[in-house]
Order: sequence, then C-alpha cells, then structure tokens
Amino acid sequence: MTWYATLGRNVLDWLIPPSCLSCGEEVAPDGGHVCAACFAGFRFIHVPFCDACALPITQDEMAERGALCADCERRPPLWRRGRAAFLYGGSARRLIMGLKYGDRTEHASALARFMAQAGDDLLDQEALLVPVPVHRWRLWNRGYNQAALMAKALSRQRGLACQPDLLRRRFRTASLAGLSRQGRQKQMAEAIMVRDRYRDGLRGRHVILVDDILTTGATAEACAKALLEHGCVSVDILVAARVTLS
Ligand SMILES: [Zn+2]
Ligand SMILES: [Zn+2]
Repeated sequence: MTWYATLGRNVLDWLIPPSCLSCGEEVAPDGGHVCAACFAGFRFIHVPFCDACALPITQDEMAERGALCADCERRPPLWRRGRAAFLYGGSARRLIMGLKYGDRTEHASALARFMAQAGDDLLDQEALLVPVPVHRWRLWNRGYNQAALMAKALSRQRGLACQPDLLRRRFRTASLAGLSRQGRQKQMAEAIMVRDRYRDGLRGRHVILVDDILTTGATAEACAKALLEHGCVSVDILVAARVTLS
C-alpha cells in the first residue's frame, strides 16, 4: 500500500472503527472483517473433501474411492471440480443471509476472499467467472444478484475475467422442493440459458460457476449443461458454503 493509501485508511479507521461483518462488534484495525468469536463460528472445509461437490469425506472413504463422495461416484455431476469455503451454518450462514436478504452487499467481497482460498487451484488466469443467475423478479426485488457480486469481487481480487450476465434464468423455479431429483433437473434445465450475445464466445472456455451455496446441485447442473452445450471445455463450481442435507 502506498503511504497516502495507508494514511487514508488510518484516518478512516479512526473516523469509523472497523466492525465485524457478522456481529457488528468493533474489530482491531488490522483484524480483518470478522471478529475472533465469529471467525471461530466458521466451519471451514478441510481436506479430504469430495473433488466434485466439496462435501467432507473421511480418510477411509478417500482411500477406498479416491477423490469423490459416494453420491458423486454413483452419479458424477456435469461440472468437473467443486470447492466451498465453509459448511453452511454459524457465521457463514449469517454472512450469506445478510448478503441475500439484508442488503449487506459488503459481505460479498469478504466471502469472496474465503472462496478464493478454498478455490485457489481452480482460479487460473484462463478461467472465466460466471455467477449462477437469479430470475429478474428477484433481481428487481433485491436490486442485485448476490452471486454476481461475489463473482465480481473474485474477479477484482484475482484479476480474472468475469461475465456477470452470461447466464439467464427464464422463469421462476420457486417450488422445486416438492419435485423428485429428475423433476427438478428437467425444470431447471429449461430455466437456465446462455444469453444470445455470448453464445459464440464460449467455445474452448473454462468457466467457473460462482454461487453463494451449493445444496442439491440441480441449479449448478443446469448451468453446467447450458455452458457445455455451447462449447465450454470445462465447468467448475466455487461457492461460499456447502449445505449438507443430512
Ligand atoms: Zn463478530
Ligand atoms: Zn461429492
């Protein structure tokens, strides 16, 4: 940092003491964005985890099956590799809920920093960052797509290309909960599209899909399908938190 940037930041810290993004308590000027107590409330995902869906697996499972969890081995997803910074819950849940429903857009870059660490091996300079789209009704309501904010933050932090509106969600998929896995997939596959103006530029590209959470993977699967159909060589997925259903 240059001396005047440092000075500027010190003045700013004095005027507005930095506070924890998760609980609002004051943090030390160089203490990062989250206080020690909230930091302890993150459930970081460590190795070994499933190479495709980021679910933690045991050393024994790793020795037995290699890098995939039982579900991904039985039915490998269309995307290649998956990384998540945390298991959903605790401080990660608070940051994500604040970003999605509380207008706390500043959470996007804090979450992106953790995601950049978790997805370090995916983030090569050739990669194109693409957020999972939300329907435009939701965009109008919320004013932003939280996944797009995260993708842009990652792009700034790592100097990677980002195309925030490459994918489009055609209709709302509000009630996928009652459907079978196949039913969900069918409906999602019809809902996600590559925008016309980007169709010719995707051949040979390596895309990293960015989202806040990964749950069943139905949405990510639909995005990967659309991207691969338009010539992408590979699709990886990077999320802030992995939701476990059990
Ligand atoms: Zn805190
Ligand atoms: Zn898996």
